[in-house]
Amino acid sequence: MARLNCVTVLAPAKLNLALDVVGLLPSGYHDLDMTMQAITLYERVVLRRSPYLNLRLPGSLVAPNNKNTAIKAALAFFDYTGLLAGVDITIYKNTPVRAGMAGGSTDAASTMFGVNRLFGLNLSMGKMMELGVRLGADVPYCVMRGTALAEGIGEKLTRITPVPHMWILIAKPQINVSTRLVYEQLDMGGIQKHPDIDGIIRAIEAQDVVRIAQSMGNVLENVTVPLYPVIETIKQDMLSHGAINAMMSGSGPTVFGIFPDEQTTLACQAFLKKKGDARQVYITENFN
Ligand code: ATP
Repeated sequence: MARLNCVTVLAPAKLNLALDVVGLLPSGYHDLDMTMQAITLYERVVLRRSPYLNLRLPGSLVAPNNKNTAIKAALAFFDYTGLLAGVDITIYKNTPVRAGMAGGSTDAASTMFGVNRLFGLNLSMGKMMELGVRLGADVPYCVMRGTALAEGIGEKLTRITPVPHMWILIAKPQINVSTRLVYEQLDMGGIQKHPDIDGIIRAIEAQDVVRIAQSMGNVLENVTVPLYPVIETIKQDMLSHGAINAMMSGSGPTVFGIFPDEQTTLACQAFLKKKGDARQVYITENFN
C-alpha cells in the first residue's frame, strides 16, 4: 500500500437517546445504561506525518496543550505500539464544548483511528477502545460510533440496530456544565422516573421514529434542569414548534429535539435563533 502523508477523519459528536443511572460501582463511578447515537455534527481531524507532536485548533477556544484529548490519544497510541514517530494534528472543531456531546472524546477516538491509518498499523477497533477508555469513558463509544447500548461507565458496548433516519435539532444555551458536578449532585433515591431502555431498543428495532422519540429519557435532567431552567425553556420551545420529543443530552446543557420532517426542523431552528436562549443551534441527522 502507498505511504500516506496525510489522513483526514470526520469525528462525529454523540447524543444519548436514553441515559439511566442504575447504581454505584465499587470504583465510586456511577453504573450507567445508555443508548448512544452518533450525529452528523463533525469535527474535522487532519493528521500529517511530522518529526514532532503538534496540535492546532484553528478558531477554537480550547487550549492546544498536553491535556488535550487528541494529544493524549496520540501519545497512548505511540506508547502502546512502540512507534517512534510524530504527527501534526489539526482539529477544526464544530461540536460545542462542555455540552454533553463528547467533543473531546470524539477527537481522541478519531486521532487514534487516523494515526492508525496514517502509519498503516492495523490496530484493531477493540484495542483502540481499550486504549481509549483510559482517556475518557465516552472514547470507546466514539471509536465504535453508530447506534449502541453502553453500560458500566460507558465502556461496555453492544452494537444495536441502527436508528432510522431522524431530523435532529441541537440547541446549546450559553452555559457550560461540569459533568463531574452533575454526577456528584445526583440523588439516586430521588429519581422518580427511569427511562425504559428495553422499550427504546424495541422501538429502534421496529424502526419507529415516533416511538423512539417518545421513549427517550435522561435521569441527569433531575440535576441539570433545576440548576439551569433555560434547558426546560428550550425543551418546551421545541415541543411547541413541532418536535415529537425533546431532551437534554448527557449531563447537559445541550437540548436536542426529534422532528417529523426537515421543514418543521428548519422553522424551529429559525425560532430558537431569533429568540436567543441558545446561540448554537444546528440541524443534524443520525450518523450510522
Ligand atoms: P462529554 O459529553 O464527554 O461529557 P463534554 O461535551 O462535556 O463531553 P468536552 O467538550 O468534550 O466535554 O470537553 C470538556 C473540557 O475538556 C473542555 O473544557 C476542555 O478544556 C477539555 N478538552 C480537552 N481536550 C479537548 C478537546 N479535544 N476538545 C474539547 N475539549 C477538550
